Amino acid sequence: MLLVLGNATVDEAMGVETWPSPGQTIIAGAPKRDLGGKGANQAIVAARAGADVRFVAAIGNDADGRWVADALASEGLNVDELMIAATATDRSLIFIDPNGENAIVSTVNASLSIKPDTVEALVGDLAAGDQILMQGNLSLDATRAGFAAARRAGIHTLFNPSPLHAGHGELLGMVDVLVVNEGEARSLSQEFSAVASAKALRDAGVREVIVTLGGRGAVFCDASGLHHVSADTVEVVDTTGAGDTFMGVLAAGLFTHRMTGIAALRAASLAAAITVQRAGTLASFPARNEIAAILK
Ligand code: ATP
Repeated sequence: MLLVLGNATVDEAMGVETWPSPGQTIIAGAPKRDLGGKGANQAIVAARAGADVRFVAAIGNDADGRWVADALASEGLNVDELMIAATATDRSLIFIDPNGENAIVSTVNASLSIKPDTVEALVGDLAAGDQILMQGNLSLDATRAGFAAARRAGIHTLFNPSPLHAGHGELLGMVDVLVVNEGEARSLSQEFSAVASAKALRDAGVREVIVTLGGRGAVFCDASGLHHVSADTVEVVDTTGAGDTFMGVLAAGLFTHRMTGIAALRAASLAAAITVQRAGTLASFPARNEIAAILK
């Protein structure tokens, strides 16, 4: 079982011609509303990739929260374990430029309401050999509690520390599989290149480090050394969700399908290349049959 513990949000995506500067108002295209949140996204992709996913997040007691729960249920995820926070449901504003690059502003109040003891109790329901996957939206204390409890119980830990928090570096010694993009790798390791970052993050205690490089693929560092996997050359429409697709397929590849690190990385890259060719977040994720064809 893969416990994905993270956030679930309402995403509002808008197309922009240029990025706004401080003090400037710019005009965007019509907003598109979608289910989002790195936790929800990665849970959905991992489930489509065949993982036995248990998804936990906090939503508000509001119309947005009910909309999020319905959207998760229609993806086939069990929504019984969603927690109700005393805040509004978290929301992300996503701006996408004509090159498909994005800039995102998110609220995390509902996610921050998840307490360390709640996380410990959730992990306590898992068995040795299960996996826990977290992202950067929970409080540092809750994230630390989850990984520490998992380590004690022999549960595999997967971490995609996005958005990156200043304290995430102190968790690295408890992480089996770390997935970071280039910027996150640089901030966490204080190394400039992806290769040097990957090595430094492994030296900090991570068993398998993956640094994603957008259209240039990803670097993988484990006990066998350093490897590079190229990305598919494709026409980019919108890169939003590429990292989540990558993470979801990687988790299922490694633990559900028992693939080698390199094979799981190749599958994750192929799946993410599908996502960048499509607009939206949820709408851009590869379908079950597309992922199955990649995993074959
Ligand atoms: P995002 O925040 O946009 O979801 P990210 O910053 O977490 O993504 P990236 O390194 O941009 O992560 O992308 C993750 C993976 O997605 C890459 O390793 C690659 O496999 C795939 N990918 C991203 N951009 C492209 C692209 N332009 N062409 C092909 N594959 C891509």
